[in-house]
Amino acid sequence: MAVSGLGPYDPQNIFAKILRGEIPCRTVFENTFALAFHDIAPKAPVHVLVIPKGPYVSFADFSTTASDAEIAGFTRAVGHVASLLGLDEAGYRLLSNMGAAAGQEVPHFHVHLFGGAALGPMLH
Ligand code: C5P
Repeated sequence: MAVSGLGPYDPQNIFAKILRGEIPCRTVFENTFALAFHDIAPKAPVHVLVIPKGPYVSFADFSTTASDAEIAGFTRAVGHVASLLGLDEAGYRLLSNMGAAAGQEVPHFHVHLFGGAALGPMLH
């Protein structure tokens, strides 16, 4: 699906390189379908990115073309990471930017997980 400001999937995007091990990351969790790692420029005490391993540009792309198994594996990874980091009771925020208007910088679908502090009404 075409998304404003984003082209077709670019296998040279930075998260694709992380998935291939060409660029290091601080991994939090990994399963068959997803990888979670600490954001390089955290905007909260806990700021983790969860990305699917498949080549999806955006939320629209992922939600319409990924298999049910990929969607389940990714979604469960997000929840598992929050639990691993001890955020279930305190709470956390999930955010995904889609397209140029939302400020999506990396054209590989990802969800930001913020926590570890009282979060303001908006972040990122
Ligand atoms: O949603 P958006 O595309 O704007 O967010 C991309 C995120 O990827 C930023 O928070 C940025 O700090 C993060 N990033 C990273 N490691 C990289 C490059 C970008 O964690 N090597």
